[in-house]
Amino acid sequence: MNFTFNSYKKIFQIALEQDYSVITLKEFFSNEFDKNKKILINRIDVDFKIDRLNHIYEIFKDLNITASIYVRLHSPNYNLLTIGNIRIIQKLIDIGCEIGLHTELEDVGNYCNIDKQELLKKEIQLFETIFQTKIFGTASHGDMTPHNNLDFWENNEPKDFGLMYEAYDKRLWNHCRYVSDSEWVQWKAYENGIRLDDDRRTPLEHLQETPPIFHLLTHPESWYNEYIHE
Ligand SMILES: [Zn+2]
Repeated sequence: MNFTFNSYKKIFQIALEQDYSVITLKEFFSNEFDKNKKILINRIDVDFKIDRLNHIYEIFKDLNITASIYVRLHSPNYNLLTIGNIRIIQKLIDIGCEIGLHTELEDVGNYCNIDKQELLKKEIQLFETIFQTKIFGTASHGDMTPHNNLDFWENNEPKDFGLMYEAYDKRLWNHCRYVSDSEWVQWKAYENGIRLDDDRRTPLEHLQETPPIFHLLTHPESWYNEYIHE
């Protein structure tokens, strides 16, 4: 399996053929899914290449599926607030996708000496103003800094910010098969919160085992039509 958008689409086609419900994290945490069916929890973290959401939008629209899509406000590579970028997010919301914050609270708070709790509140407000949708959750971004953005949640609760969840919430993390493309050219997997050593199976290979809760994380920059840097 390569990282072309054709292969990307194939993951979801096969999941649908196997009768998975493709759902958002918000739907998972609010129990809005059919308990008699296997679920694919579809998470996307937009680290660098937000423009590739255009391809993903076409695929999801075609297959009539949705995802939870977490976008950054502090990416050095894109400006979420350009009109073009607001439009693609609006289009994804229109087909039922959930939009969330890909947070960098420890990085921004520590490097810029900004109050992290106030920052999060204002960022949620900004998202809700611009995208005209309720924000239900965040997903912590991992960067090449000494800080771990997930640490913010050691002393804070999502509900104190009007949120339902943080994406690494143990209620999900400890009860799913989690497969991620976060190493760009190879896959990694966790089972019920424990890393599966040297498990480089592709999502299609995992789907052959039909795990009942399949949590898939992808990054748009890993996927392309012909060439990774096209
Ligand atoms: Zn990230």
